[in-house]
Amino acid sequence: MHNEDWIARGRAALWHPCTQMKQLEAAPPLPVARGEGPWLIDYEGRRYLDAISSWWVNLFGHAEPRINAALVDQLTRIEHVILAGCTHAPVVELSERLAALTGLGHAFYGSDGASATEIALKMSFHCWKNLGRPEKTGFVSLAHGYHGETLGALSVTDVALFKDTYAPLLRHTRQVMSPDWRQAGVDQQSGETAEDVARRAAADLEAHLAAHAGTTAAVILEPLVQGAAGMAMYHPLYLTLARELCDRFEVHLIADEIAVGFGRTGTMFACEQAPPPSPGREKGAGGGGDASRVADIADFLCLSKGLTGGYLPLSCVLTTDRVYQAFWDDETARGFLHSHSYTGNPLACRAALAVLDIFEQDGVLAANCIRAARFTDILQGVAAHPRVRHFRHAGMIWAFDVAGAPPGFARDFHRRALARGVFLRPIGATVYYMPPYVVGEEEMALLAAVTQELLDQA
Ligand SMILES: *Cc1c(COP(=O)(O)O)cnc(C)c1O
Repeated sequence: MHNEDWIARGRAALWHPCTQMKQLEAAPPLPVARGEGPWLIDYEGRRYLDAISSWWVNLFGHAEPRINAALVDQLTRIEHVILAGCTHAPVVELSERLAALTGLGHAFYGSDGASATEIALKMSFHCWKNLGRPEKTGFVSLAHGYHGETLGALSVTDVALFKDTYAPLLRHTRQVMSPDWRQAGVDQQSGETAEDVARRAAADLEAHLAAHAGTTAAVILEPLVQGAAGMAMYHPLYLTLARELCDRFEVHLIADEIAVGFGRTGTMFACEQAPPPSPGREKGAGGGGDASRVADIADFLCLSKGLTGGYLPLSCVLTTDRVYQAFWDDETARGFLHSHSYTGNPLACRAALAVLDIFEQDGVLAANCIRAARFTDILQGVAAHPRVRHFRHAGMIWAFDVAGAPPGFARDFHRRALARGVFLRPIGATVYYMPPYVVGEEEMALLAAVTQELLDQA
């Protein structure tokens, strides 16, 4: 079978995600036969650099031997078992290790990222209800935030293209100013810094909560990088300020690290970069002891994508003792009666455990720090290109906006990059790189060269 056969058969039977199928007539999907590290290989042996980690899920490349071995081993034991009324080593060990990494001691599992968002929203509301505050039903999110596309998650998402069509089906939620530092450029005279923008955005959240905290259950946000907004980046001070406001107004903070967790922004979790809060605030209410900074910021932490290294669908919501205790009761209905069939799937948990082992064995965070500095150097030519605006970088994410991008720019750029052996998927006029952590200097140089070549042409 060749590329063309799979494209033709897929055209008849397959409906692709996030796609106007009619557009695939002109730009068919890439048939992928195999993967090798950061490379995708088609049915005719051509190779493409996976510069977006297969939609931000992959960490250590495709067909990673250690993750493969863990899965093969798990297959000989138990592939799946119901998690209501059963338990197993992979899910217990994973929960313990995530608790140790975050200071959030209670792990509830879902399958996809969107299901983690649903879990966090429902859990927050139900927690307040159990605490005698059933009127706290509202949710606040950031302008241009993205939290998934099931109805509850879409309600707190603020991406018009995904949301407007379904507006009549959605819960009403409120959006506050994004701390996206690109807004500092709006008023060039003011000399406003990224930190100033973070303070201005926090003031907007404060004004909202001052008026509506009584009916608000939670604020949900993507720490440091708003991915689907086009890799909008912001100053970590915003996280500290938002946390202080959530304490002051008695509102939960849901940190959606589905995209940025597992080292993407340089630290294991993006929340760790929040500067310490002003004195007076209690330590994170999670695991106790030397609870990490994550528990100082988040009441709920949503994880998915990189959790399994891009192998299997698994998501997790981690939360505090305080939230957990609010559900602990003789009455069944005060418990969190939420479930997904594949909750805590043993194979997926084993993949996640293998991922955590690799972080330790390979010193991934330290190595990425060196790698990222080197890659930023390699990308200097791109950053200095006359069409490039707002070149930005956080950990293993790089992004920039293209001046004068015509309509259809993203699709066209994708197609032309593919012809040169690079798989990219710009968002609007924003080109970004989010490569697997195993990418090398030669591969980054290829990415830079292809990008510059494409920017030079129309
Ligand atoms: C991808 C993503 C989601 C949704 O995850 P799915 O697995 O696609 O449902 C939610 N929040 C953020 C920040 C994401 O990047």
